[in-house]
Amino acid sequence: MVSSHSSITLSDEEKLDVLRRLDQFRQWHSLDQKRYCLVCGEMITGREIQVIESACGETPLRVVCPTKHCDALPLEWVLPTEDVLIKIAMVEAERGWLRLVRQAGRAIQACQRRKNVKTISRTRSKPGPG
Ligand SMILES: [Zn+2]
Repeated sequence: MVSSHSSITLSDEEKLDVLRRLDQFRQWHSLDQKRYCLVCGEMITGREIQVIESACGETPLRVVCPTKHCDALPLEWVLPTEDVLIKIAMVEAERGWLRLVRQAGRAIQACQRRKNVKTISRTRSKPGPG
């Protein structure tokens, strides 16, 4: 799908005002505040959040996640509290762990292959007596 919305450039004050009006779930004190987007799993700041013109006339403006192909709503931006940060760390650790497991698996395979080569080459080449 091609998104046809065009982002609007606002002054910091205006943007903060729009954020406060459209994000009724959490308080915005400054554009430098961080939010964790539950949809794309990225950390975003108020400054990065995009203000776009809404297609439906109900509300003239909308705020969207700055991440490509992510159209999360303010409802899905949570405060990066300790709980959230722990969750992020766990996901990162899991990713790192999987990478390690895969690397270890490859290393073990390579090692076994080397061992096999060694056992094969250890055949007697000298002709035995008699
Ligand atoms: Zn997002």
